[in-house]
Amino acid sequence: MDICYSIVVPVYNEAENLPELHRRVREVMESLGEPWELILVDDGSSDGSTEHIRRLAQEDAHVRAILFARNFGHQIAVTAGLDYARGRAVIIMDADLQDPPEVIPRLIERWREGYEVVYAVRAEREGETWFKKTTAALFYRLIYRIADVKIPLDTGDFRLLDRKVVDVLRQMREHHRFLRGMAAWVGFRQIGVEYHRAPRFAGETKYPFRKMLRLALNAITGFSYFPLQLATFFGFFSAGIAILSIPAVVILRLTGWQAFYGQATTLIAVLFLGGVQLISLGILGEYIGRIYDEVKGRPLYIVREAPEDAHAHRS
Ligand code: UDP
Ligand code: MG
Repeated sequence: MDICYSIVVPVYNEAENLPELHRRVREVMESLGEPWELILVDDGSSDGSTEHIRRLAQEDAHVRAILFARNFGHQIAVTAGLDYARGRAVIIMDADLQDPPEVIPRLIERWREGYEVVYAVRAEREGETWFKKTTAALFYRLIYRIADVKIPLDTGDFRLLDRKVVDVLRQMREHHRFLRGMAAWVGFRQIGVEYHRAPRFAGETKYPFRKMLRLALNAITGFSYFPLQLATFFGFFSAGIAILSIPAVVILRLTGWQAFYGQATTLIAVLFLGGVQLISLGILGEYIGRIYDEVKGRPLYIVREAPEDAHAHRS
């Protein structure tokens, strides 16, 4: 049977959401009348989600379970889903029902019109903290300014990808991933569809500040050299000040001014430049650490259990 739609859902400790997710996805997909599959990627859950996913896969032939050996993170779980998906169109969504399955037919409509990437834009976000909304909004705008590709604003990973796009993404095996950026990078015809982002159905966010920060750093280092160039700008700026200061200080001294005596000025200058240099080193370190991870060439994820499928390329 030729699968038309694959729904890819990364799952990390979402046991309370799985029955409702399955029910609503099923309802929507059945109404479309085309063959579909639901790929649940268990990202090393410890709350019983794993057993739940296994059971769903046994009971419903539409469900395929991919179980990771440990927690690899959201972006990697989605990547595994893309590797295993067989559909002509692949839809990525969260397990917590913040991305309502009822939006899927609207994504498909645009795909049928010929768009290869249909991303869902958050017109409104409900039930999220002020902190999350503000940092997300700032982050989307920062990355829009400094990235080499135009990554749509207020857009998460909820989207539909055509088979052609999925096949390109599957060849991009970078370890530190920012799928929204990668999907923008490939090009093709892309369009946004607005939707109302619902509050979480149950449970708590699985994206603590630490993970958000890591994703933001992956996005920035993966799609921009701007932080590396900052050191150059700062270098020219400081050198410029120094060159202008030398004659100024000489003149001031010769005219008998008391300015710039004492150690305080020296100390401040040393601390300032030391700080700038250490920050620049840290930025270099971020990029070098990522190069190191790529060079090691480890697999992106390790699968404990997955459906038998020659199609997937497990690396
Ligand atoms: N997720 C995952 N691995 C992780 C963290 C999250 O697979 O390490 C999944 C999670 O189960 C959910 C999706 O990624 O399906 C989005 O996570 P969450 O809803 O917690 O993020 P938020 O909506 O709060 O940004
Ligand atoms: Mg969520």
